[in-house]
Amino acid sequence: MVAAGTTIKDSEKSIGLSNRYPNVFSGVGVHPTELTSTFSETEIKNLKKLANHKKVICLSEIGIDYQDNSPDKSLQRIAFDQQIKLAKRLNLPVVFHIRENKDEFNASNARDAALEILKENVGIMGIAHYFQGNWTFAKRLLDLGLYLSFAKPLLRMKELEETAIKVPDDMFVVETDSYPQPFKKDRSKWTEPYQLPTIVKKISELRRRDIQTISQLTTNNALNIFNKHRFLIEKQLNDT
Ligand SMILES: [Zn+2]
Repeated sequence: MVAAGTTIKDSEKSIGLSNRYPNVFSGVGVHPTELTSTFSETEIKNLKKLANHKKVICLSEIGIDYQDNSPDKSLQRIAFDQQIKLAKRLNLPVVFHIRENKDEFNASNARDAALEILKENVGIMGIAHYFQGNWTFAKRLLDLGLYLSFAKPLLRMKELEETAIKVPDDMFVVETDSYPQPFKKDRSKWTEPYQLPTIVKKISELRRRDIQTISQLTTNNALNIFNKHRFLIEKQLNDT
């Protein structure tokens, strides 16, 4: 399990969780909606210290979020780029978030901005978390060597199915996200880790492969993207 930080404070909490539970790993970083400024040199140094912890396996959750009430767009772009550059220096992947204004499926403002920054940072390893987009957009990410992560949107958005079918075997992982959503009164509408098998099942139906195969693929893919920590993760997998 990867516990993602969304602020510096939460990143520290995430590390606390990973210290306490052997099968929890950490992502550290500042989420685009939590930004108040770009990173000073001291802040980057502090983030680097956190990222060097032995159980931090990625910079996350970072990205671009262009909803109406999100922070200034250019601030977001600079902070995304700063965190990607840090990840690159540390040889860690990034788990990134992209959200258009009001979740418009076909808008491309946040997507274009994110892609441009990812493209400038040649060789960055990363996962498009909670992937929502059409196959054209998916292809642009895959062409940069970036992985796609399928989550609950795949269960309700027909538009995602083409991507779930066409994405190469070695380029996708699964997640649930697990943002607490008390505003959704029906708890089954929350996104929680226990729902992971439902997503794997959906992918197995779409790709006409058995559940075991999809599970194995996504585990292998996760090990490949988190390669720097492969040994530690594999040890944990074998222990549980
Ligand atoms: Zn997100």
